[in-house]
Amino acid sequence: MVRLARLKEALSVAEGDPELVRSQLQAFGHQIPLLYFMLFVNTVAVAVTHLRSAPAWLSIYIPVLLCAVCVIRCVRWWRVRRRVLTHDKAVPELRRLIWLAGIFGIAFSAWSLLLFPYGTAYEQAQVAFYMATTVVGCVFCLMHLRAAALLLLSIVILSFATFLVFTGYPVFIAMAVDMTLVGLALAFIIELYYRTFAGVVHAQRELQASQQNTQRLSDDNFRLASIDSLTDLPNRRSFFASLRALSEQALGSGGGFNVGLIDLDGFKQVNDIYGHASGDLVLQEVGLRLLALAEPGIFFARLGGDEFGVLAQHQLSNETLVALGQRICDALSQPYQVAGNVAELSGTIGWAAFPEAGTTVAQVFERADAALYVGKESRRGTPVIFSTEHETRIRRSSLVTQELRHADLESELFLEFQPIHDVLTQRTIGMEALGRWHNARLGAVKPEEFIRIAERTELILRITEVLLRKALDEVSRWPSELYLSFNLSAIDISTSARARRLIDIVLASGVPPHRVSFEITETAVTRDFEQAHSALTMIKQAGCRVSLDDFGTGYSSLSYVHRLPFDTIKIDRSFMTDVDSNSASKKIVKSVLDLCGNLGLECVVEGLETSSQAEVVKALGARAVQGYLFGRPMRASAVRAYLQTALGQSYALGARP
Ligand code: C2E
Ligand code: MG
Ligand code: MG
Repeated sequence: MVRLARLKEALSVAEGDPELVRSQLQAFGHQIPLLYFMLFVNTVAVAVTHLRSAPAWLSIYIPVLLCAVCVIRCVRWWRVRRRVLTHDKAVPELRRLIWLAGIFGIAFSAWSLLLFPYGTAYEQAQVAFYMATTVVGCVFCLMHLRAAALLLLSIVILSFATFLVFTGYPVFIAMAVDMTLVGLALAFIIELYYRTFAGVVHAQRELQASQQNTQRLSDDNFRLASIDSLTDLPNRRSFFASLRALSEQALGSGGGFNVGLIDLDGFKQVNDIYGHASGDLVLQEVGLRLLALAEPGIFFARLGGDEFGVLAQHQLSNETLVALGQRICDALSQPYQVAGNVAELSGTIGWAAFPEAGTTVAQVFERADAALYVGKESRRGTPVIFSTEHETRIRRSSLVTQELRHADLESELFLEFQPIHDVLTQRTIGMEALGRWHNARLGAVKPEEFIRIAERTELILRITEVLLRKALDEVSRWPSELYLSFNLSAIDISTSARARRLIDIVLASGVPPHRVSFEITETAVTRDFEQAHSALTMIKQAGCRVSLDDFGTGYSSLSYVHRLPFDTIKIDRSFMTDVDSNSASKKIVKSVLDLCGNLGLECVVEGLETSSQAEVVKALGARAVQGYLFGRPMRASAVRAYLQTALGQSYALGARP
């Protein structure tokens, strides 16, 4: 049974193994010309020797027909030698070849058996020799088609050996036995060879599979190394690789491209208020919105945190860049659904063109960053294209940094004080200390400028100390009912040790801590909410007060900032410009005043310049106010004179002291 099954397998096509079938056909393809050449030459040789002895149909017509078939098959092979067969076509082709081998075997055997009785003993021996050598040659050519080789071998050997035995001549009988033994040995060799061949094909397939697997793994690794896993956008590394490639291409071809840097405004707050999981959702949404804007030649990447990059592969006009930037900003400023709430964010984008803004990758990136910086400072939520004006700003910035580093802070820094006024009692209740810097080379530098630069370089820590000591020194000379409001930067409260240092300075000054209120802006607080919370709590526990400065310029809600231990909220002066004419501004101021009342917080309205504004905010319920109307920032020496007038007599609302 097992043998029968083996025999059946040996004579059939390995249908379930497409690779093997295709390899068999391919290998056989190389042998075809040799096979037909051998058949052709041997047949002609036998036919020629029988021309005289055998009838024409046996010595001419049949051999010509057989040789013609060989030539036709050879020509066909030549035509299709390069075709690649699909598995569906390869299996029937292999089957056809097996049938063909059988038919050829029968045809050539029949011809030589018919030819055998003609001619002398020599010619008969030639036919027997022809059959034996031709079958061995053909079987070797059919080595890769096991079934065809075995079929051919069986047909030829069986028919010829039987025929020879029946001739009765001992020489032919011996030849028949010999042929049968050689046939068996050949069958054995074919089986062995075929197995080795199938094994090699399988091994190759496995090798290929493992190579493909390795390739896939390395593709996966490459993908992981170049894709940001959160947003599925290309990551920083991939962005810079593209940037380098673009710059090389542009330098070679003389073309150009544009780099954009996008920063989200208000992302930090979302992270702090709703948690990191929600922050991640926002970033994913940003990624999707950016991807929706990608088009041929425009790529987006996530550079880290809430910073994204965009590469516009071609040189674009400023108008096109602004339009593209605006589309990006518009898409990013649509509301985000976060943890059942709606979060409002915006994106600012800084553009720089290669080679106009910079001729190296680092330069063009830096310039895009400078444009972004300018955008974040003054034009949030809009696209900004790098210009030489930004360059001037950067130069100025590094000049200020340098001067600040080498400044004699004790002698160059001083303070101006601006009164905080109670509109009910019409008396000055406090003074806000405002830092001033006069430098021999730069002259007077605006606080917005030097404070921002000092914050970046951490020089602010020293500046705060110097200014706080100077301010406290003044306060000690003021009437005891006046408090000092002193501005802090985020860095001043970024560690507990730094907060402790401020408390120590207050305590060392002898000024009662309750007379000192520290102002901190909303954006500073939201940089690190937990740290801000613990630092402000420390300051409160030491007896000082804390105020939230410039409220309304950031993104947080009052209920959020109420989680911090503030005593006072200062409404930003930007609401005052049209508070007497714009009902929306009026409503905002009113609602903040009401909320402060409900939460038990004091509220200072900043930036009052006209009596009409003052009337309106007073009617809305404001009590503490600050602004040019009640007093401009003044030198310490002027404060004493001011206070003598202000505290010595009550003055009417709206009248300048
Ligand atoms: P701020 O704390 O909101 O200070 C109020 C700013 O508004 C001051 O500008 C003040 O001169 C100005 N101001 C007051 N009343 C009016 C008004 O009626 N109309 C207009 N248009 N402006 C008014 P200044 O002195 O230029 O300070 C700007 C900012 O710089 C301050 O805003 C504060 O954030 C920061 N700053 C000032 N001094 C210091 C300091 O010593 N340390 C820190 N960290 N920041 C400071
Ligand atoms: Mg302030
Ligand atoms: Mg303010």
